[in-house]
Amino acid sequence: MFEQLGLIGCGLMGSSFALALKRAGLVQRVVGYSKSPSTTERARQLGVIDIEAPSALQAVSGSDVVLLAVPVSATEATLKAIRHLIDPAMLVMDVGSTKCDVVDAAQRALRKELSSFVPCHPIAGKELSGVENADVNLYAGKQVILTPTEHTGQAQLRKAAALWTALGCHVMQMSPQAHDAAYAAVSHLPHLIAFAMINGLQDQPKGKDYMALAGSGFRDFTRIAASDPQMWRDILIANREELLAQSKLFQQALQTLEALIDSGNAEALQARIQQASQTRAHWRASLQKNLP
Ligand code: NAP
Repeated sequence: MFEQLGLIGCGLMGSSFALALKRAGLVQRVVGYSKSPSTTERARQLGVIDIEAPSALQAVSGSDVVLLAVPVSATEATLKAIRHLIDPAMLVMDVGSTKCDVVDAAQRALRKELSSFVPCHPIAGKELSGVENADVNLYAGKQVILTPTEHTGQAQLRKAAALWTALGCHVMQMSPQAHDAAYAAVSHLPHLIAFAMINGLQDQPKGKDYMALAGSGFRDFTRIAASDPQMWRDILIANREELLAQSKLFQQALQTLEALIDSGNAEALQARIQQASQTRAHWRASLQKNLP
């Protein structure tokens, strides 16, 4: 049980976390700060936070747990702004979608305070952003990846794991590098392709007319293209090396299919589609419990 959550960034992820923590009875009060005062005020009106803080530092004052739920590019400045009030007993976490850049930012911004910081990535979320879309159930049943730095304290790591577990999450631990390599493949590349898919349609004269005719396959495939532009700009640039490597592998796979189509090699084309279809079906069956 925590006395006070200092929430920095009252958007989708931060507000959903505050609501879940409150519902689980794990915190007595939530003090929140967001870049726009109107967001902080709205978070209080919606019962996400109890007290509005005029700065990140003031949200941290008196808190025993702190969550940074801001775009990853704001991590370093935010940690620098709150550094003076981070004490060794405090648990400080983030929810950023990329981890090498967050760990690098923490190493630049913090010194002895690094032991309090546990980098986290909940594999939860949606294409909608902002406090208005906060969802108390967002984290339930989802995976949370912890990527501790070499300086993260063992007590803090245990506390973070216990907290996420109490919210119904499955906690895993890995290095920031392993995290970014994996999520370049299964999250960042799919978003890149979804954005490119819509851009490619927009850029052709009849693209909008074609979209008006689209069905559920197009809807499912492109859902994530409606994601927040600033957040995804940050993620794609922060993890650029792993992402561009994955993008090259994808282009090779696409070219293989294009060559088979071009040559009319129906048998080989069907074999490739069958491989994809089986792999997707096995993946879905094996992960059923972790996905909505
Ligand atoms: P969001 O709904 O847009 O919320 C971010 C909030 O942070 C907004 O309220 C925003 O501005 C505020 N903010 C921005 N810069 C700030 C700063 N310097 N100081 C304080 N507040 C600041 O985005 P989100 O989806 O919650 O994403 C937050 C983090 O979660 C990101 O790092 C993202 O990578 C990660 N994440 C997102 C998802 C997802 O599916 N959405 C999944 C996993 C992880 P205002 O105060 O102006 O409104």
